Amino acid sequence: MIFRGFTFALRPTPEQAEKFAQAAGVCRLVWNLALEQRRHHWRNYQARTGNNLNYVTQARELTALRAEVDFIREVSQTAEQYALKALDDAFRRAFKGTAAYPQPKKKGVHDAFTVNGREVAVERLNRRWGRVRLPKIGWVKLRMTRDLAGKMTEATVSLTPLGWHLSIGCKSEGEVPDVGGAVGVDRGVAVPLMLSDGTPYRLPETMALLDRRIRKAQRIASRRKRGSNRCRKAQRRVSALSAKRARIRKHWAHETTTDITRRFGTVVVERLRTKDMTKSAAGTKEAPGRNVAQKRGLNRAILNVGWHQIETMLSYKAHRVVRVDPRYTSQTCSCCGTVDSRSRESQSSFVCTACGFRANSDHNAAINILQRGNTPFVEPSIRPAMKRELPSVEIPVL
Ligand SMILES: [Zn+2]
Repeated sequence: MIFRGFTFALRPTPEQAEKFAQAAGVCRLVWNLALEQRRHHWRNYQARTGNNLNYVTQARELTALRAEVDFIREVSQTAEQYALKALDDAFRRAFKGTAAYPQPKKKGVHDAFTVNGREVAVERLNRRWGRVRLPKIGWVKLRMTRDLAGKMTEATVSLTPLGWHLSIGCKSEGEVPDVGGAVGVDRGVAVPLMLSDGTPYRLPETMALLDRRIRKAQRIASRRKRGSNRCRKAQRRVSALSAKRARIRKHWAHETTTDITRRFGTVVVERLRTKDMTKSAAGTKEAPGRNVAQKRGLNRAILNVGWHQIETMLSYKAHRVVRVDPRYTSQTCSCCGTVDSRSRESQSSFVCTACGFRANSDHNAAINILQRGNTPFVEPSIRPAMKRELPSVEIPVL
């Protein structure tokens, strides 16, 4: 089974946008009511009797509520059921310990509603435009940037800083075919992504430009009086620009991962450490020149958030993904296997201190990652300089 997601910008009429907001509002209300009911139930009954309150019981109450309250009936029932299901999932994740306890939803924060794919129809009108039929709302125009593939499972309408968007989940039969070959992917320093065959993937130039514009907009917002209309306007500009940057980055990640997975069946990546995801873009002491430092900072900052996205995309697009230990990949010589931090002559060039092998340091690391993908991991050979730092192990006398 292959699952794919499609996102389109919606162009609702003012009345339709009003209906979107209403549907999102009712779903938020349903979530909040059900959450409150669960808390109350837990405090008063469940802790004593052990009787559980689950999706089924709450969905039954929803049907009763719809019969009584007009504005709840005006919104698609499946959208409301999805809100209950989402709450049920949130509770399950919280009890498993993988997520925080569900919180009440606030107006204006992730306004969205989801309906079942069976109730949705998408049609193409012309080269640029299409339309979608949503329950209780009708046909809404959208920018049809690509064609759907597979069977629709669900559709979510959400309000982003760039307006209302539609995301559709599709599933189709079959497995991802193996195109053969293997490649190592390194999160580079000079370039965001480097393949072991030497292909670099660079971010579009507009990213740097957008970054500057966002920083400028942030400066303007911080100068304005907090809580004022002018300040809010400036903050909206910051969030719209940030959303645009995120969209471009995601598009780039899609393009890049599609290109990689079309060329190689097996993709070897570094195993992600959570430490890397929270690491700041600082650490510029070995940077020669401000511009380089800035650019590298940018690449890092982008990848700090983007790498997880890229890994997720690779894991569903590639035939096979192998995750390897990332330690010493940038200090190991891909030619002779020697580990030495001094081999990193600069940020971008690698010269082996033992055999004299020269390469771009990201390329060298990518080759190491590929090699680790098809060889079992062994501790890299340790040079005498590093040996002293290791704790001595006492062998017990028997
Ligand atoms: Zn070497």
